[in-house]
Amino acid sequence: MIEFKNVYKKYDSGTEALKNINLRIERGEFVFIVGASGSGKSTFLKTIMREEVPTSGSIMINNYDLTRMTDKEIPYFRRTMGIVFQDFRLIPTMSVYDNVAFAMRVIGANEKEIKKRVPYVLSLVGLQSKARSMPNEISGGEQQRVALARALVNNANTIIADEPTGNIDPEMSYEIVDLLNRINENGTTVIMVTHEHELVKKFNHRIVVIDHGSVISDTAAGGALSYDETTGYKPVRAAQPTPKETATPVTAVEIPVTAPTEETAPQVVPEPAPAPQPVSESVVEDPEEVDPIQAEIAAKVAAAVATPNQSLYMEQLAALAAAATPSSPSQEQQKNSFTNIDGVDYSKYFEDTEGEV
Ligand code: ADP
Repeated sequence: MIEFKNVYKKYDSGTEALKNINLRIERGEFVFIVGASGSGKSTFLKTIMREEVPTSGSIMINNYDLTRMTDKEIPYFRRTMGIVFQDFRLIPTMSVYDNVAFAMRVIGANEKEIKKRVPYVLSLVGLQSKARSMPNEISGGEQQRVALARALVNNANTIIADEPTGNIDPEMSYEIVDLLNRINENGTTVIMVTHEHELVKKFNHRIVVIDHGSVISDTAAGGALSYDETTGYKPVRAAQPTPKETATPVTAVEIPVTAPTEETAPQVVPEPAPAPQPVSESVVEDPEEVDPIQAEIAAKVAAAVATPNQSLYMEQLAALAAAATPSSPSQEQQKNSFTNIDGVDYSKYFEDTEGEV
């Protein structure tokens, strides 16, 4: 359950990106977040991921109070979320398998567990036959499916998708949302920002419209929408000022299921979930199997994400893993691979670890 109460976010620049957001998303819902560029959608997602902290108001996610969360709690909280970006953010020097395995390695999972879980998650997204491929050897749609597998591999209960279809063609886009839909049918909450009206129309889910930092319509709160090619979504009936305690269930629409990919059609049937891990314990079950390198990576990652507002980007994690693994390419090579991959200079992460390994 995600609950925003009177949430405002004002950046240091003075921009009010969120204004009095009151919203409740139940566990297992699928919500489309739509709105014009600059309306506040990314800020909304960032506050959910605890990358930004509201200026005022409160956000409760499952049992976490995000406005009171300690820095130590942040990495554990983020493990409950799987994040999918528009630009995939795969690590270009790692195979499909390793891109997914990496997300488990950084939280200290053991190799036995990884060997069992990664092929299973790749099969869910129909990519078991591409496990050895490198990201540049597969299509954009397939890269996004790898990103989805990475988001799922640690048993996230919520998937946050920030324009996941923005860089892929319409047919593949449909396939990605169809996959998200199947994942959602098995109980995972999905929150997806999109500009694509055609997709929103095909999948009959709750739609929240954000405009100038405010929720101007919410189909779960009685809002009704009209859509115009140039102006986007506009409410024809405004959302109720106070969100209902329980979201109105949306009626599923019969939609044709896309043809399976060249591999067997993914059956998104959840594996029996591993027993929930107490927050303070590592996922490593057998202390005998703790790999000191992996433990070191996990410690460094925990330290890296413990700084408030610091993003847990995979490239940063890759940099940390590379620095902590003796057999990996030199730090200089890794630095060249990852610096500025999305316009961010990660070199400080190398400097931080220089000489320590
Ligand atoms: P959207 O995702 O809908 O395009 P954003 O949440 O990115 O919208 O932005 C909402 C508003 O906040 C915009 O006016 C944007 O310029 C501003 N904004 C976003 N991020 C920052 C930031 N880090 N610092 C200052 N202003 C920001």
